[in-house]
Amino acid sequence: MADDRKNLVGLSRDELAAEMAAMGAAPFRARQLWHWIYHRGESDFAAMTTLAKPFRAELAQRYVVARPAAARALVSADGTRKWLLRFADGQEVECVHIPEEDRGTLCVSSQVGCTLTCKFCHTGTQRLVRNLAAGEIVGQVMAARDALGEWPSPKDDRQLTNIVLMGMGEPLYNYDNVAKAVKIILDAEGLSVSRRKITLSTAGVVPMIRRCGAELAVNLAISLHAVTDELRDVLVPLNKKYPLAELLEACRTYPGASNARRITFEYVMLKGVNDSPAEARALVRLIAGIPAKVNLIPFNPWPGAPFECSSDRAIEAFADIVNASGYASPVRTPRGRDILAACGQLKSESVKLRRSERPAADAAATAP
Ligand code: SAH
Repeated sequence: MADDRKNLVGLSRDELAAEMAAMGAAPFRARQLWHWIYHRGESDFAAMTTLAKPFRAELAQRYVVARPAAARALVSADGTRKWLLRFADGQEVECVHIPEEDRGTLCVSSQVGCTLTCKFCHTGTQRLVRNLAAGEIVGQVMAARDALGEWPSPKDDRQLTNIVLMGMGEPLYNYDNVAKAVKIILDAEGLSVSRRKITLSTAGVVPMIRRCGAELAVNLAISLHAVTDELRDVLVPLNKKYPLAELLEACRTYPGASNARRITFEYVMLKGVNDSPAEARALVRLIAGIPAKVNLIPFNPWPGAPFECSSDRAIEAFADIVNASGYASPVRTPRGRDILAACGQLKSESVKLRRSERPAADAAATAP
């Protein structure tokens, strides 16, 4: 029989309070539950010992505290972990944890597939299947905490300190669910990830950028990748709708942008396409006046991709020009190269496996 119990993960505090009220429970029960779910990471009502036993049983009859299941889990030699997470309807997204010296970043997806068809992006070759619900976005963070053994939500020495909405999909095309999820992730009595440590990456959905800044005040990253409309129209077709001048204006007026909270411009380095010194100089002129840093991302190749990565020399020369103009321009060396590095590759591989009816191979690779 299908489980028709409601998942509590992804409900806002108000919605959770309404559920408790409908059960006739006192309002503070919602707060206790919130603590168990998001601070303690408890998914078994029976273990929620501050609640009366009959109440726990009643909760278990009506609700679940569910996160997506890891259909595959891969660990790279450099410590990067990549999960293919499967939701109740069988749809899957990727989620990646990147440990670094002083922080650990979780890259979270916002949609199954994507509508944007950026030419260098592997996810761009997959069609959009659907938006993720708020609970499915929060569920990625919880699944990562499960796998990293990070419950209750620690204050210090976390392996998961930062979150980037930079996985599959365009977060500003699923704004309501993303906003709801971000508010849950920020909650100090729960997952408690600070606003300064959350970054939303967009290909440039201009009308939503202002709203994102005003309502969520998270850090903004822009997938720029080209300095002329002519080239950006090709690489990031969304540019035809929201051209560079409009995009940069939205960045100039992004609420909360300052030298302490700079906007990140992402720039994927494509050999002979966008990596010349002249383009580096044009980039600097383009972002003049915006408190910014530039992340240079060596292109991550995938089978059949119509591009190659720029040479180390070209990347260095590009970085030097941007740096000399006063913008930090770190080269984001690709992590986890040995485990299907390009975003979307793990999902595609899994689909291929299933098409060729070899689900056993899938299962074999699941061991964390
Ligand atoms: N839709 C959002 C978030 C998803 S893409 C956006 O466009 O920002 C997240 C980042 O990954 C983008 O900067 C994108 O340019 C980059 N990216 C995608 N495919 C890549 C590849 N093959 N190599 C390097 N970077 C890639």
